[in-house]
Amino acid sequence: MPSSIVVVGSSNTDMIIQLDRIPRPGETILGGEFSIAAGGKGANQAVGAARAGGNVTLVARVGQDMFGDQAVAGFKCDGICVDHVFRDKAAPSGVALIFVAKDGENSIAVAGGANAKLAPADVKKAAKAIRSAAVLVAQLETPLETVHAAAEIAAKAGVRVILNPAPARPLPDKLLRLVSILTPNETEAELLTGIKVTDEAAAAKAADKLRSRGVQTVILTLGPRGAFIADAAGKQLVPGFKVKAVDTTAAGDIFNGSLAVALAEDKPLPAAVRFANAAAALSVTKLGAQPSAPTRKEIEKFLKARA
Ligand code: ADP
Repeated sequence: MPSSIVVVGSSNTDMIIQLDRIPRPGETILGGEFSIAAGGKGANQAVGAARAGGNVTLVARVGQDMFGDQAVAGFKCDGICVDHVFRDKAAPSGVALIFVAKDGENSIAVAGGANAKLAPADVKKAAKAIRSAAVLVAQLETPLETVHAAAEIAAKAGVRVILNPAPARPLPDKLLRLVSILTPNETEAELLTGIKVTDEAAAAKAADKLRSRGVQTVILTLGPRGAFIADAAGKQLVPGFKVKAVDTTAAGDIFNGSLAVALAEDKPLPAAVRFANAAAALSVTKLGAQPSAPTRKEIEKFLKARA
């Protein structure tokens, strides 16, 4: 039986225009190149986990529209269980409109749509799947009360909870106490602790602060530098892998999805983080969110070449 992971979170359709520069208010720029890709942090993490070898159930909400149809078809293609991907009768599917300029700068507007309707009642419908999972994964693009409800069901059943606190927002201690592993990036860690993560010493300080609020383990992601682990056993940096970065969209999502798989397979934490660093490094070498998620085979080949 493969490892079992439940992801509770958002699903969006990303509509991307690559162009010379971001248009100013009131300005029209011609000559852009359009592409459409599946996105949303929850869905990205679910796809990342499924391709990394996990047996994944996604709890999400999309609209009864074309984008919802495409999202669900994509999840099925990746072998994700969609029994708890609900179709909202009123709200449209979540959409992100993204401009990417030549210099890599971007500008993003998100209409959350059905994601904002993902309710604690939806999570309760998935309680059986959550209780029997090895790991629950959640982020913050859906209502906080829904994330809390899912974490509560998991924690009560002894299921490990990974919370990726993205997009950054303040979090109550009563939620942090339910979290086994919190995975902020540098910006999110700063917002949660007030500590600017400029080096390893600052990362250690920020992690201590989060652990003092009830989180068991903190894994602070540091972009190309890798990830910093802090738990009861100690602290260590797990270095990232050098790759040619093309698009870092969803690097954190792929990191979280593949981390969940490695932990569900009972890999020790440093080895799980190395696996996640490898999957995320591979993802930045490709354009788009879900299209960039590597397969288990690709991750293993990459790791073998760097052993
Ligand atoms: P987010 O994408 O949430 O901002 P990070 O930038 O910290 O988070 O990236 C998450 C993980 O992705 C890192 O811990 C690292 O493993 C990997 N990663 C990100 N950027 C790069 C890069 N340029 N080269 C190699 N790995 C990267």
